Amino acid sequence: MRKIVKLTSVTEKDPLITTIKERCRVCYTCVRECPAKAIRIFEGQAEVISDRCIGCGNCVNVCSQQAKHVLLCIDKVNDLLNSNEKVSACVAPSFPAEFPDINYGKLIGMIRALGFDYVHEVAVGADLVAQKYNELINANRNQQYISANCPAIVEYICRYHPNLVKSLAPIVSPMLGTARAIRNLLGEDLKVVFIGPCLAKKKERDPTRPYYEIDAVITFIELRQMFEEKGITPENTSTSDFDDPHGHIGSLFPISRGMLQAARISDDVIQGKVIAADGKRDFIEAIKEYETGDLNVNLLEVLCCKGCIMGPGIKNDLPLFRRRSHVINYVKSHKAGRNLKKWKSYIDKLADLDLSRGYLANNRCFPEPPENNIVSILNRMGKFSTKDELNCGACGYDSCRDHAIAIYKGLAESEMCLPYSIDQLKKTLQELSISNKELANVQEALMHSERLASMGQLAAGIAHEINNPLGIVLMYAHLLLEECEENIRLKKDLEMIVEQTDRCKTIVSGLLNFARQNKVSRQPTNIAELIELSLRTALIPQDVKIVINQKNRDLIIELDSSQMAQVFINLIVNACEAMPDGGILTITVTENEQGFYFIFKDTGVGIAPDNYPRIFEPFFTTKQLGKGTGLGMSVAYGIIKMHGGDIHFESNNDPAKGTCGTIFTVNLPQHLPPI
Ligand code: ADP
Ligand code: MG
Repeated sequence: MRKIVKLTSVTEKDPLITTIKERCRVCYTCVRECPAKAIRIFEGQAEVISDRCIGCGNCVNVCSQQAKHVLLCIDKVNDLLNSNEKVSACVAPSFPAEFPDINYGKLIGMIRALGFDYVHEVAVGADLVAQKYNELINANRNQQYISANCPAIVEYICRYHPNLVKSLAPIVSPMLGTARAIRNLLGEDLKVVFIGPCLAKKKERDPTRPYYEIDAVITFIELRQMFEEKGITPENTSTSDFDDPHGHIGSLFPISRGMLQAARISDDVIQGKVIAADGKRDFIEAIKEYETGDLNVNLLEVLCCKGCIMGPGIKNDLPLFRRRSHVINYVKSHKAGRNLKKWKSYIDKLADLDLSRGYLANNRCFPEPPENNIVSILNRMGKFSTKDELNCGACGYDSCRDHAIAIYKGLAESEMCLPYSIDQLKKTLQELSISNKELANVQEALMHSERLASMGQLAAGIAHEINNPLGIVLMYAHLLLEECEENIRLKKDLEMIVEQTDRCKTIVSGLLNFARQNKVSRQPTNIAELIELSLRTALIPQDVKIVINQKNRDLIIELDSSQMAQVFINLIVNACEAMPDGGILTITVTENEQGFYFIFKDTGVGIAPDNYPRIFEPFFTTKQLGKGTGLGMSVAYGIIKMHGGDIHFESNNDPAKGTCGTIFTVNLPQHLPPI
């Protein structure tokens, strides 16, 4: 009896395939190609779920970024080779597809040069297994079996079709068969290393036995790496041959239907008792149909790849049929040369070898999600009817519905849907351009108010300095005026000095106002009365008609009435000055939840668009010299801002675009800010 080998960490715990996050570009190709749906996208990253992975290696094959890392076992093999144990290299019969360039005798020599004590061909295990299949099928003509040579298929059935575990042929794979055969001949302590094209083999075992029968599994890719690391080439190696027992027609196993031929089982189309299916799409479909009872066959021969010659552990990129012909050529050229008698004697010697195995179901099927959950996930991705379900496949799932189910199971994310993501992107772009515009407006307003603020500071400084000397000039001019006799020419000059100095005083006090030198002192003010007072003070020309719209004549607002009067007077005077030939000035007072609105609408000449940015600048005037100071609007602006309000205007000065005129709107908040 073979010693119980401690289950190694390599085969038991380590995941077979992992994603190298830095390399993964999240193209969803691996999601699409994974027959077990064992790849989930989480936070935009592809992850292989070990528990669901069947080790087929499709994801490794299709990843153009080489972002899938396969568990390497070279160290384990080197440990074995460095130990005192006898170690056999068991080479899979697909080797001619990987090494067409190396004479097979040389290849065996190279493997020996690595330190292996024996080099066996797995074809002999295939011969033994083929014979068992022949016996099984012939003895049970009414039974239905699924072949169990492909470990990925076995894992697929145990996980995703647990009902079919009972259909799996109770016969070991050629790899396990070879291990049992050579241990039978050479002793149970022999260490066995399998070398082949398959990743799933790294975890293959008969779960009804408490140990692994294979001590390590490496792929042909790893074998090449070992040759390279040890500098072993065909040139520096002598030719050798496989150790006994040699394989015979079992060498055909790695090509599609090869097993059937080796087992002499007819897959006659008319009889239809045997069906062979290989490659991802076909095997999934065949197993599904087998389960539903649509396939009435004796044997379903299934392989995950298009034959083992297309396995993910093969490095060269020869096409399928070239690989196939290399295997067939090997069989042709070596079968005949072999000593069939010797082969037969070994086969007879091993006739009683136990090649049976068991299986354990390992159900990994998710329960189907409730329909309303699928619908709500579809809705979340903007799919409200079948018309919206484009089934484009960009997400890696065959249909939008499959994608929604995968989201429910936690395997996928909504963002994987291309049309949905494009839609989201468009929306974000739109939002961005809106906020960009808003930002530009705010920036302009900020620049404007900064300019006004710095002008205010400058103006306040100058005004402060000028105010005192101006007072003195005015006082002396008045004194002189009092002392002057009537009708002297000097008096007229003095009167002119007083008048102009007064004007300067007005400008200076306006400047101080603008620079917010004055404090706001609020008191409840009747707005209707304030407007009337402002109209009286402004002296309305006869040809200007005043219209007042104010529903609530009792409206009382807390504000600085004399300052607000100044604002209203400035607006009224400007409106009248804009209507030299008369017109209508409409004053409207309204209120809503946000605040109070005072609207001054005139039918005047309007404001030229070029002047829009300058209206509130101090000293900006379009009026003739001596007529305007250019301070009215800047003062009004300062006062309104001090009240926590705002002022803006709309205007038209082009008769071609409609009636000319300007509308100034003063807006004060409902709740005035604290002073
Ligand atoms: P001023 O009245 O002394 O020119 P303001 O600061 O009061 O200075 O006004 C600045 C400028 O804004 C005016 O010269 C005028 O060009 C323009 N303006 C203000 N209000 C009106 C209005 N209602 N219609 C047309 N233009 C106006
Ligand atoms: Mg004015």
